Amino acid sequence: MKKILNYIDGTLLEPSEGNYLENKNPATGKVYSLIPDSSAIDVELATKAAQTAYPFWSGLPKEERSNWLLKIAELIDKKSDELALAESIDQGKPLSLAKRVDIPRAAANFRFYATAILHFSSETNDMGSNGFNYTIKSPIGVAGCISPWNLPLYLFTWKIAPALAAGNTVVAKPSEITPMTAYLLSEICIEAGLPKGVLNIVHGLGSKVGNDIVSHKNIPVISFTGGTTTGEHISRIAAPMFKKLSLELGGKNPNIIFADCDFELAVKTSVLASFSNQGEICLCGSRIFIEKSIYEKFKNAFIEKTKNLVVGNPLDEKTNLGAIASEAHFNKIMSYIKLAKEEGGTILCGGDEVKLDGENSEGKFILPTVIEGLEYKCRTNQEEIFGPVVTLTPFETEEEVIMMANSTQYGLAGTVFTQNLTKAHKIALQLHSGIVWINCWLVRDLRTPFGGVKNSGVGREGGFEALNFFTEPKNICVHF
Ligand code: NAD
Repeated sequence: MKKILNYIDGTLLEPSEGNYLENKNPATGKVYSLIPDSSAIDVELATKAAQTAYPFWSGLPKEERSNWLLKIAELIDKKSDELALAESIDQGKPLSLAKRVDIPRAAANFRFYATAILHFSSETNDMGSNGFNYTIKSPIGVAGCISPWNLPLYLFTWKIAPALAAGNTVVAKPSEITPMTAYLLSEICIEAGLPKGVLNIVHGLGSKVGNDIVSHKNIPVISFTGGTTTGEHISRIAAPMFKKLSLELGGKNPNIIFADCDFELAVKTSVLASFSNQGEICLCGSRIFIEKSIYEKFKNAFIEKTKNLVVGNPLDEKTNLGAIASEAHFNKIMSYIKLAKEEGGTILCGGDEVKLDGENSEGKFILPTVIEGLEYKCRTNQEEIFGPVVTLTPFETEEEVIMMANSTQYGLAGTVFTQNLTKAHKIALQLHSGIVWINCWLVRDLRTPFGGVKNSGVGREGGFEALNFFTEPKNICVHF
């Protein structure tokens, strides 16, 4: 059986205590690899290696750091088929999606920050005849990067690339549910000849390895993406240690459809925003609000398109929705479908598990599920489900839809469909969220700030925001 190894000080290592966890293929339900069940000893080794590498790495001209990152991007591109296959097997997502989105984006993350760092500059503030101030933005030290299972390599590299570009060294932990592409990345770093200790990847459980990274006294900066409850826990540890902390957390995003929208575009894009990656994207629009005058028309068109989606073997070209990433997550989603019924919702389509044949007979699959008839305040409409489940709710006025859209504890993203430009901007301004898409969904420009408000997180990733996060500004004042 394939054994995943830690990547510490430039070398692939067994976990110090020799313990492993089982890694399942969610589409077959079979254990297909072993993952290090690492301990504090491994985190300590990784942190020491990162500390040792720091003076060298942070002292390099940025052009040299940039070249290393570009080399890694090239190798990701070269191995994109292998990486996409590994991602699909490990996570359950359709192979076509991993090929089209996840792996190209991982390469783009490295390429973007390899070049962004070359343009990252600081200011001088002129005090006239009294002198001037200038600002130096220095790397911080060893950065801890912790990522979730839904977009494994995509989100892992979204943190690692800016941290390294800015001159930090890194101790990183991918999700224990989807460790494979992070392991393949460590092989790529070795092939690229990345100097030892610059990037260290420690595999294992969040409650052990994740916790040890967050509480390590020599890791002063933590970038975390994951659930809101985990984010709360991390804040409690990191805040009294005065660590710099970036938290990208959960979402319960509104998707608002006005009667004056481009109807076909709104339906097509809403299906994507609802069910891409089995609805396991923090940006999915899980609460669809539809203006009353087109409610029935939109509902019928949306359900028709949803029923055409193919739930199947992730490796099959025709598959739109693959397997649910883990059994625990499958159970959570199914419990919310049950709750929706208890809360008075009507299941318009889906609502059940799908049993596939052959090698996928033990996999966990759920039909794309559309529910109506629920109060906007009920738990189904307030809590993050993070699966292929959406609710439809009619609205009559702009005020009403804004009130319902903003009613959750979350504030990550929102989507608005209307052909009225003024209305689009007005609504976008009033949504309590870090991101708003108008007449589109998940169109990304890596230069833009990415993140949420309220319980969806603290801080922003993307563009120079991430380079600012992974550096400390120092003002130097020169007085004449
Ligand atoms: P999770 O919080 O369970 O785990 C995320 C990571 O944190 C994993 O690597 C896990 O091992 C680690 N972890 C768990 N407990 C920890 C602890 N005590 N200390 C340190 N690390 C710990 O989240 P998940 O289930 O992997 O991911 C799904 C969640 O992530 C959803 O809520 C989703 O909305 C969110 N998410 C947010 C964004 C965003 O950009 N805002 C993007 C993707 C996913």
